[in-house]
Amino acid sequence: MGFATCVYCGRVLTAAGTDPQGPSMAGSERGKKLPVCLDCRRSKRDRPLTMWLRMLKKKDRMRWDRIVKHHSRRTGGEITLAVRRVERER
Ligand SMILES: [Zn+2]
Repeated sequence: MGFATCVYCGRVLTAAGTDPQGPSMAGSERGKKLPVCLDCRRSKRDRPLTMWLRMLKKKDRMRWDRIVKHHSRRTGGEITLAVRRVERER
């Protein structure tokens, strides 16, 4: 497997390197396999996407800011839309 980026935070994943377990694949909301970095996978576990994003916004500002920045340049996509939605919440 070559290079992939984490669908949540945009971190580059390599088969051997930054991520000791290599790219991990996690199910999206539609059950598709997507690359996810170890940190995001450990943090999200099996929480629903929106619930996880709300939790990050409150308790893990560093990861939340990284995710918002990564998705600010993207258009559409269920993860990007969920990030925007949670970003607008107060
Ligand atoms: Zn990540």
